[in-house]
Amino acid sequence: MSPTRRIGVLGGTFDPVHIGHLRSALEVAEVLALDELRLMPNARPPHRDTPQVSAQDRLAMVRCAVEGVPTLAVDARELARDKPSYTVETLELMRAEMAASEQLFLLLGWDAFCGLPGWHRWEELLQHCHILVLQRPDADVEPPDALRNLLAARSVSDPQALQGPAGNIAFVWQTPLAVSATQIRQLLASGKSVRFLVPDAVLAYIDAHNLYRAPN
Ligand code: ATP
Repeated sequence: MSPTRRIGVLGGTFDPVHIGHLRSALEVAEVLALDELRLMPNARPPHRDTPQVSAQDRLAMVRCAVEGVPTLAVDARELARDKPSYTVETLELMRAEMAASEQLFLLLGWDAFCGLPGWHRWEELLQHCHILVLQRPDADVEPPDALRNLLAARSVSDPQALQGPAGNIAFVWQTPLAVSATQIRQLLASGKSVRFLVPDAVLAYIDAHNLYRAPN
């Protein structure tokens, strides 16, 4: 019998994807021995996209970034819709494509995790996946009140010990890389280099398509 398949998903705007996203994804994939970790770019209302950077450009950059990296993959399903998707609905769709025993892991930064109580049907998320909270040293220690009971009931201390297809929460410590897409957009807009903050292939895409630069 083959071992249970383990799939992870990291959503984000990836505007643009950078080494912070990619190291997190790779470290989680290795620590959890995932078969596949999918980077899933979010759709946004058109007016919120950076003016010259389309969803297709954001997707293309994520594709460039994971090219040739075993275990990292791209899932474009949320961009295929004409409006932003609710995470719970995306997870339902992914679940429908998986065997019931397979494990699904949703990766969330601490900030996103603390915002969970505002998400559509958030109490159902753990029916479909385990949640891995990516911990950064600058994170607040205290979760919001609304999450206290959930954490008491569902968190496990060792992410490698997560059992079953879904239902638990674990914290994963990460190599801190204090880089953000905001910083990268600002550097480019002011004519500076973002070399070594994004993979070379992403830099080549940004240059070739003249993205994020201030107009001359
Ligand atoms: P922006 O600066 O535009 O808000 P961002 O760099 O935070 O963007 P997102 O696309 O919003 O990137 O992030 C997607 C996911 O990656 C989130 O869960 C976020 O917590 C995580 N993430 C972003 N930057 C880092 C980083 N440097 N290290 C680890 N995780 C990160």
